[in-house]
Amino acid sequence: MNQQPLNHEPVIEISHLSRRFGFKVAVDVTSLKVHRGQVFGLVGANGAGKTTLIKHVMGLLRAESGSVRVFGLDPASDPVAVLRRIGFLSEDRDMPGWMRVDELLRYTRAFHRDWDKDYAESLRERFQLDPSARVKNLSRGELAKTGLLLALAHRPELLVLDEPSSGLDPVVRREMLEAIIRSVADEGRTVFFSSHLLDEIERASDHVAMMAGGRVILEGRVEEILESHHRLTLRFAAPLSEPPILAGALLMTGAGLEWTAICNAGRQEMESAAAKLGGRIVEEAAASLDDIFLARVGSNGSSLRRSEKQEVS
Ligand code: ATP
Repeated sequence: MNQQPLNHEPVIEISHLSRRFGFKVAVDVTSLKVHRGQVFGLVGANGAGKTTLIKHVMGLLRAESGSVRVFGLDPASDPVAVLRRIGFLSEDRDMPGWMRVDELLRYTRAFHRDWDKDYAESLRERFQLDPSARVKNLSRGELAKTGLLLALAHRPELLVLDEPSSGLDPVVRREMLEAIIRSVADEGRTVFFSSHLLDEIERASDHVAMMAGGRVILEGRVEEILESHHRLTLRFAAPLSEPPILAGALLMTGAGLEWTAICNAGRQEMESAAAKLGGRIVEEAAASLDDIFLARVGSNGSSLRRSEKQEVS
């Protein structure tokens, strides 16, 4: 019987974790907590530090400084106790190429006393995986589905997925991956996954941490992050040659008379700031996570407009 964490105890708790490779700071995270039943999405551009953070959660890297606790334990010192409660899909989908799919399922099953054979078979059918196919001959998408099946079939308390969408076509992503992630959470289990796809994070997760340069630059409930940001279109009395600088605007794009601001200030505050420059709000819309990410991280994913972490919840 798996030992369940107390409800108030985070499933994952990261505190002052820092990791360098040479001079490169790969991860520098002050605090990150993932609670039971949450779907927690980790988003960031290439090299943002997502995989390095996930490797610490899996105990594949030991914290150089700071601490990582999973179910209250250090995964690097206590891998057996931690890993048996986790289902993991690694970024490189490392599986033995010489095995057939059915052999791989039997082999993996031997390591998990909680393996649910019927569930594994239903996932295999749903993913349309040929049991007699050799792993080395699987397509990228089939490899991702096989890895996902292996991560899911012992119904782990914590599912850790590194870029699960990579290689999956949009239909499989939306109709299978997102549905599976939601159903795992509905059963009170926890999902921690990384993705480049902000629309996927927006649909599938209830919590998000945006990473850039190894740091968490924005973290909170997806709903609250969306509610606290807006996309405003501003029109000015005279054309502006430079983007107007308004407090609360994270990103300003446009030209001449009309500019669009992604902001995290209230409408009134923006209205009076714009009025001082001879402008008014002509349109207001919801900002997407994509807008917010670009506004905070910049289009190349590394040049931060704001480097400080801003907690939303
Ligand atoms: P991607 O989305 O491209 O997979 P990521 O967000 O997962 O990126 P990481 O793989 O965690 O990013 O890498 C973070 C940084 O640390 C990168 O600059 C990477 O080059 C560096 N890095 C990661 N692992 C190593 C290593 N073993 N040796 C040297 N540098 C490393």
